[in-house]
Amino acid sequence: MKEVILLKYGEIVLKGLNRSFFNTKLESRVRRALKSVEGEFYFDYAQSTLCITPSDDADIDGAYERVKKVFGIATVCRGLACEKDMEDIKRVLAENIDELLGNAKTFKCDAKRSDKKFPLKSPEICAICGGIVLENRPDMKVDVINPERVITIEIRDRQAFIHGNGEKGAGGVPVGSSGRAMLMLSGGIDSPVAGHMIARRGAAIDAVYFETPPYTGELAAEKVRTLAEILTEYCGEIYLHSVSLTEVQETLVATCKEKLFTLLLRRFMVRCASRLAERYGAGCLITGESLGQVASQTMQALAVTDAVATVPVLRPCVGLDKEEIVVRAREIGTFDTSILPYEDCCTVFTPKHPDTRPDMAEILEEEAKLDVEGLVERALATDHFVKLG
Ligand code: ATP
Ligand code: MG
Repeated sequence: MKEVILLKYGEIVLKGLNRSFFNTKLESRVRRALKSVEGEFYFDYAQSTLCITPSDDADIDGAYERVKKVFGIATVCRGLACEKDMEDIKRVLAENIDELLGNAKTFKCDAKRSDKKFPLKSPEICAICGGIVLENRPDMKVDVINPERVITIEIRDRQAFIHGNGEKGAGGVPVGSSGRAMLMLSGGIDSPVAGHMIARRGAAIDAVYFETPPYTGELAAEKVRTLAEILTEYCGEIYLHSVSLTEVQETLVATCKEKLFTLLLRRFMVRCASRLAERYGAGCLITGESLGQVASQTMQALAVTDAVATVPVLRPCVGLDKEEIVVRAREIGTFDTSILPYEDCCTVFTPKHPDTRPDMAEILEEEAKLDVEGLVERALATDHFVKLG
């Protein structure tokens, strides 16, 4: 008897005419996720469910962990394949009853027939299978309203499957179905979460990290790279750019009002990130900002940084509390890396009394003292990237 992985598609099922576009995308994302897993995997799609049959030598546990991170999938479960024959279904059910039930005390059976020619109707299949469960596990009780475990019997074209409750999949829509975005990735807690949220809505991700050597070191860059690598488990490949803002920082410190350092620097970041987005075909920027979290994230401060963006700036964390962002960071596996204590270029030059209600005229006055275009161009000349994932 063979074990399979069943992936129930999420909201792409609702996509009407575009559905085959989304299906193709999702299937290719799943194939990609399984590329590094040992063994061969055969795909069969029907009724909003992708069935993955592994070869005998395949690492099915590894495959299961990988597909749980693929966006576009609502539910993931492991199922048992059997012949389309009631005797075989009964045998497989009886032989695997304990694993199928887990430690549940109540259950119900549910049958799905995509092959309408199968001689038994769904209620009959349920009645027979429910009987098998009770025969083998007299301690179990049927509860059709609120069962702890649902045992599902699916009758497909070529074979039948039996499975217990699935686990929640990664949700969202497949990466690559909503274009490309440039993530401003800092090494903090928020920006990896922001990147994950937008990738979950279907954007392929590129990332840019602004460094300020020698004020920021190799360890900080390494940390950002690790974060980007964790994100590739969800988003697939990421081009991680590094751009040096050392000249910008030093010029700001030498020339401008201290209370505006952070905001002026952030405007340079957004200018550079916008140029990179245009150069590499990204339709928007992503930042980890959350309204009111720090001085540079007040509404006025966001307006000041947005004003130099040439593509839309997405801030998916804008309405989340820090606690909520931390919960997500733990879930996606970036938190422990994010809290490693390496300096960030924002923190190195943080003003003691940052302006929380910046005045645009004053910002422009400060920038008039600078060769903004030259600084941006020289910063972008330091751009170098690695391909991850
Ligand atoms: P994070 O936890 O993501 O660092 P934060 O709360 O520390 O966010 P800031 O340091 O003000 O906030 O930065 C706001 C956003 O600007 C970050 O979420 C990130 O998207 C971007 N950003 C900040 N510093 C950098 C950097 N060195 N390189 C790239 N992007 C950055
Ligand atoms: Mg930060």
